[in-house]
Amino acid sequence: MSETMPQAPQKKLVISDKVMIEMKDVHKWYGQFHVLKNINLTVKQGERIVLCGPSGSGKSTTIRCINRLEEHQQGQIIVDGTELTSDVKNIEMIRREVGMVFQHFNLFPHLTVLENCVLAPIWVRKMPRKEAEELGMHYLKRVKIPEQAKKYPGQLSGGQQQRVAIARSLCMKPKIMLFDEPTSALDPEMVKEVLDTMVSLAEDGMTMMCVTHEMGFAKLVSNRVIFMDRGEIIEQNNPHDFFDHPQNERTKLFLSQIL
Ligand code: ADP
Ligand code: MG
Repeated sequence: MSETMPQAPQKKLVISDKVMIEMKDVHKWYGQFHVLKNINLTVKQGERIVLCGPSGSGKSTTIRCINRLEEHQQGQIIVDGTELTSDVKNIEMIRREVGMVFQHFNLFPHLTVLENCVLAPIWVRKMPRKEAEELGMHYLKRVKIPEQAKKYPGQLSGGQQQRVAIARSLCMKPKIMLFDEPTSALDPEMVKEVLDTMVSLAEDGMTMMCVTHEMGFAKLVSNRVIFMDRGEIIEQNNPHDFFDHPQNERTKLFLSQIL
């Protein structure tokens, strides 16, 4: 276990019966390559799902399909009651509800931290600038870096940049947050501050799906760990049973390599 263990949640994390994400018999190909094979997954409101598995197993593709950064070819993906189809209106609606945080932050380098935060509220939500800036500052406080608002991303540490990326996502008031290896590009001493931010989102009841190798986070915060290999969901369980009693040989092998 790494020394980058996040703080344990201080609040009871509640899961409701409302289904936020449903993937039914989803298949995807990149050209001839069958990258997702019959993915079935239901995520309820307030769930904190950790998705793990070897490199190339289809984790990024799975979560990128949920906000249509990638298109699936077969099966159904339903987000908060709306099915993802090629209908642009549906895609826009779903993207407004689903925030995404990437490994490499993807901030606009030529815009200040606050400008990064207000861009989408102003242009997508048509929010007046003043209101958007208040909202931006609110979420920069939320991720504990309001004093960085006027700086440019390049002047911040990796951990701070990732927290800006989270604040920027929150400004769109998403109902679901997807994280794709949000701490993998960070120096070890910055991992904890980003994980702690994610813990606090969980405490606020955010539905989260995280691709991560931070097994400390998985144990403390997730309610379900899903293991993927070669485009398939091989095994899923609560973190306790997942780590202590893995069933599948491939899961055992994976865990023996990372823990
Ligand atoms: P993971 O996130 O688990 O490492 P990915 O979802 O990124 O896996 O990739 C799964 C597989 O699909 C890998 O073999 C990868 O090389 C391939 N792949 C990913 N993106 C593309 C793409 N745009 N075109 C073709 N193949 C891709
Ligand atoms: Mg990936």
